Amino acid sequence: MDGITQRVLEGLRAQGNTRVDEAKVFRAPGRVNLIGEHTDYNLGFVMPVALDLACTVATAPRTDGILRIHSRNMNDTREVPVDSLPALQPSRHWSDYVLGAAKEVLAAGYPVEAADVVIESSVPVGAGLSSSAAIEVSTALAFLLGRTIDKLDLVKLARRVENNFVGMPCGIMDQFISVHGQENRAVKLDCRSLGHELVPLPFSVRVIAVNSMVKHDLGASAYPQRVKECQQAVAVYAERIPEVQSLRDLNAEQFIHYDEYVPTPARWRARHVISENERVQAFREACIRHDRAEMGQLFYASHKSMRDDYEISCPEIDFLVETAMGLEGVYGARLTGGGFGGCTVNLVSPEAVDSFKQQLGAAYFQQFGITPSFYDCRPAAGAGEVRLG
Ligand code: ADP
Ligand code: MG
Repeated sequence: MDGITQRVLEGLRAQGNTRVDEAKVFRAPGRVNLIGEHTDYNLGFVMPVALDLACTVATAPRTDGILRIHSRNMNDTREVPVDSLPALQPSRHWSDYVLGAAKEVLAAGYPVEAADVVIESSVPVGAGLSSSAAIEVSTALAFLLGRTIDKLDLVKLARRVENNFVGMPCGIMDQFISVHGQENRAVKLDCRSLGHELVPLPFSVRVIAVNSMVKHDLGASAYPQRVKECQQAVAVYAERIPEVQSLRDLNAEQFIHYDEYVPTPARWRARHVISENERVQAFREACIRHDRAEMGQLFYASHKSMRDDYEISCPEIDFLVETAMGLEGVYGARLTGGGFGGCTVNLVSPEAVDSFKQQLGAAYFQQFGITPSFYDCRPAAGAGEVRLG
């Protein structure tokens, strides 16, 4: 049994639960998105990998009708009567992610039983590696208690938690990869058809995420604003090309044809999404050809597009990307996740990983006085129950 599983089980005992022998444990991973940023809610393409960083949840029954949830990361507990779930409103608190999952499990027709639920995540919270999908999916599984659910139904259920209860209009990528992750494989997902393809990464390249340790407040309002700006661009094209229902339906040529009718900044946002969809396709090809140089160039092109057209970068992230691009053995670097801080993702030659961490860490500290964290992103399996004993 790993340390995190032991700690969540111990957490049940610390909550005074007397039925820990009946406990079940579930986990769901975070992810790093290799390429395809802000394309998911535009029904385009993304290519994430699931991480071996995950949210782990232990649950054991209570007999008093109370659902008590405890986050070891937050060192905080919240209790609600199970009966109150249907009418429960969000409270802009971490517990929204968990109680929202309970509500959605109920709404999907499953019972939700009184329980102690103890949560610990090794996914850094708010760093762009999707601790949010990890907590949504793992707690949904904990409320389901091993009852059968179709994988895609679980993905959609977890996304509804974030869209409807937390109030974040995110796309489907994070929940999809948390459920469908595979060891040693990236997942290329078509966010319209929800068809996915497993793509092996070349052995000769390592994926390293670098946490800038900053998150600018602007991100919270910019995300829904970007969603709106994209819709604004779609409306201009839909009037002129009836088949266009999302930016996914536009290629670069069609885009240029009418782009003068799209006000800025919506025009730039659309240009990012359309070029980014093309980069995802090209990146898949480059992976299959083991063309590390091309993979790296697509990373950097994606970064510039996010920085200049989508305007979701920040000085700390730009510094990490530019510095990484100048280091030996680095093929490419880009912002990953929602933006305005969080992580960069880097393609690094295996022999250069140690010097990469050392040199980038030192440069970042010298510039900003902050020590970044590094994560070796080995593609890991998706969510499931943790076998005990
Ligand atoms: P990201 O998904 O990039 O980590 P988000 O802002 O989407 O960032 O989600 C972070 C939020 O999810 C946190 O502010 C918190 O409310 C919730 N959360 C994630 N993991 C945990 C956890 N282990 N315990 C409690 N809340 C968590
Ligand atoms: Mg998130």
